[in-house]
Amino acid sequence: MNTKALHQISYGLYIITSRIGERYNGQVANTVFQISSEPMTIAISINKNNLTNQFINESKLFTVSVLAQDAPLSLIGQFGFKSGKDIDKFAGINYQIGKNGVPYLVDDTIAYLEAEVMQDVDAGTHQIFIGKISDADILKEGVPMTYAHYHQVKRGETPKTAPNYVEKSKGEHEKMDNYVCSVCGYVYDPEAGDESQGVSPGTSFEDLPDDWVCPVCGVGKDQFEKN
Ligand code: FE
Repeated sequence: MNTKALHQISYGLYIITSRIGERYNGQVANTVFQISSEPMTIAISINKNNLTNQFINESKLFTVSVLAQDAPLSLIGQFGFKSGKDIDKFAGINYQIGKNGVPYLVDDTIAYLEAEVMQDVDAGTHQIFIGKISDADILKEGVPMTYAHYHQVKRGETPKTAPNYVEKSKGEHEKMDNYVCSVCGYVYDPEAGDESQGVSPGTSFEDLPDDWVCPVCGVGKDQFEKN
C-alpha cells in the first residue's frame, strides 16, 4: 500500500471554534466539507485530544471561519500549534460573536458558517461532527486558503500566486542556508526574509535578531536546524 496516495487529496484550511458558556476555544482544521443542501449540513473532523473537541461535545455548537489565502502563518501557528489549555487563543485576535454565541474570526477570514451538531461519529483518533448550518455569511472578497498553499509557504516555497512571491535570481549571489523549525517544520528562507517580523529579503539566518521567533509556532532561533 502506498499511503502517499492520501497526500493527493485536496483540502482547505479553516479555524473551527466552539464555546462552553462564554469560554471560547478554536483550532486549525483542514477537514470541513458540505454534506447536503436539504437540510444544509457540513461535517468536520476533530482530534479527540484537542480542547476544541471537548467544547463541541459540551455545547453541540461549532463555527467554521474560512481562512483567506493571504492569512499570516502566525495566525495558523496561534490556532494550530498552541493549545487553549496553555494560552488564550483569542488574545490579540479580532473576532465577533455569532448568533450561536460562538466567535468567528474577522481578519484573514473570507466567510464563516455556524452549525449545530446533529450527530457525531467515532473515527478512532478523531470524532466527526455533522452539523446543521444555522447561519453563514461572506465577510470579504478573496481566495480561500488551501492546505497545499499553506504547506508551500511554510516550507519556504512561496507559491507564484502569493502576493509576496519574488522571482529568485539565479547565480547572482551565493545561496544562503535555509533553516527548519524542529517544532513545526517552518522553513526560514533567507531570500524571502520574514515580513511578519520586519526581516527584509536577503537576511541570513545568522543575521536574524536574537529575539526573532518562528513565525508559525513561536519558538526561538535555538530550535532551528540547518536544512
Ligand atoms: Fe515553528
